[in-house]
Amino acid sequence: MTITVPFRQLFIDGEWREPVRKNRLPIINPATEEIIGSIPSATSEDVDLAVDAARKALSRNRGKDWSSAPGAHRAKYLRAIATKIRERKSEMAELESMDCGKPLEEALWDIDDVAACFDYYADLAEGLDTKKKTPVSVPMEEFKCHVVMEPIGIVGLITPWNYPLLMSTWKVAPALAAGCAAILKPSEVASITCLELAAVCREVGLPPGILNVLTGLGHEAGAPLASHPDVNKVAFTGSNMTGSKIMAAASKLAKPVTLELGGKSPIVVFEDVDLDKAVEWTIFGCFWTNGQICSATSRLILHESIATEFLDRIVKWTKNIKISDPMEEGCRLGPVVNASQYEKIKKFIATAKSEGATILCGGTRPKNLKKGYFLEPTIITNVSTSMQIWREEVFGPVLCVKTFRNEDEAIELANDTEYGLGAAVISKNLERCDRITKAINSGIVWVNCSQPCFVQAPWGGNKRSGFGRELGHWGLENYMTVKQVTEYVSNEPWGWYKPPSKL
Ligand code: NAD
Repeated sequence: MTITVPFRQLFIDGEWREPVRKNRLPIINPATEEIIGSIPSATSEDVDLAVDAARKALSRNRGKDWSSAPGAHRAKYLRAIATKIRERKSEMAELESMDCGKPLEEALWDIDDVAACFDYYADLAEGLDTKKKTPVSVPMEEFKCHVVMEPIGIVGLITPWNYPLLMSTWKVAPALAAGCAAILKPSEVASITCLELAAVCREVGLPPGILNVLTGLGHEAGAPLASHPDVNKVAFTGSNMTGSKIMAAASKLAKPVTLELGGKSPIVVFEDVDLDKAVEWTIFGCFWTNGQICSATSRLILHESIATEFLDRIVKWTKNIKISDPMEEGCRLGPVVNASQYEKIKKFIATAKSEGATILCGGTRPKNLKKGYFLEPTIITNVSTSMQIWREEVFGPVLCVKTFRNEDEAIELANDTEYGLGAAVISKNLERCDRITKAINSGIVWVNCSQPCFVQAPWGGNKRSGFGRELGHWGLENYMTVKQVTEYVSNEPWGWYKPPSKL
């Protein structure tokens, strides 16, 4: 461990506050299995305090008027946050890496993306000032109509552990740009950097109550946030099981939700590829971020004519991946996030074996790493479409393989999933890539690559991967509502009712 984890409290109303019930949760470094600090554990009482703070922050009598101020006002804060995050980049990245086991070089990349996301939404906040009223043409000349976009109000943001700060930023930055007040509930599994984001917001003087950060358990802090009557919208990224609970809670109050859920994304590799390039995108698509990515292309659908050669190469590339403490230079695969994920992934592999699949490589702890939740990247063949490994999200470094003979079969296999987040197609034939892109039911398709993600482009899934899109202008619109304003402009009375006759 190179740096010390700061001791933080909950961030409510611009201040650090001890949780009402005074509970804390340990933070365990997944590379060493050591306790490296603790986070405050919020409960419904703290949620109430945070919602009160958000409500006050949006009220005019506080004199700050966050929501109706020009977007340029909010942009100043977003830019200041981006600058401070860049200043603290290496420290933030180390904390992220120690918290969730992500290789440091990836965490550094994440922190750059975090800062870029705040800057991007600062631009979009400024853009709101230039399009205050959008005219709507209506067929009656007595009326003039326009629409305005308004912030939705108080938003509850519930996020996962695989990109603790980045997934939170994808919600916090557009919510603040839109003029909302936010309550962020990061995952109890990894929250350190979200508390550091709170520290940054305090440093730059973000008005109190505009961002509140409540760390804690899902059922104790997340559930009361999702069902709070004064929270106007919930944006969630996480598992399908939790997503359903959040949607059920929100439905009681007709509260809008966006859900970014799980995936079991395919990568289709045709026979005309450059083998090494295709192998690299395949392993990047599945083993990047220790395989713990919602969009991981974890089902390889491989043309049977190149299967032997491709699998031979991919095993060699996979065995060459540097597995080590995530802080070590050159690390490309760290530990999975915690003991329960570790056990869950090993069970997936054991079940695949018991169902008759073949473990081509990996599947066990690397011999040189005695501590930590390390698992060799795993490739599984002889998979049938009824097997658990083909159907369910593993959320770990596990790739399963099936071969195909023709395009129709490839499409059928690619779409053979309840999920629809990402998909990749690798082929030199761009017309074929286009056909596959159209035929796959998913929110994202990568052509001749897998996983690149840009703040300008929409992110989100179809089918059971959720609904709504984050990032780009779609991300901002998630936190806005459309108001129609219609004006009667005629000098004549409307004339539907007769005036009473004069007495
Ligand atoms: P999770 O559902 O266990 O937890 C996510 C968040 O929900 C956490 O903050 C947790 O505390 C909270 N939570 C848990 N129970 C709750 C409840 N009853 N009410 C309210 N909040 C509750 O998910 P996870 O294990 O943190 O993340 C992994 C999952 O996230 C995977 O399925 C992955 O595919 C998905 N994910 C999706 C995307 C995407 O963009 N679609 C991105 C990252 C992760």
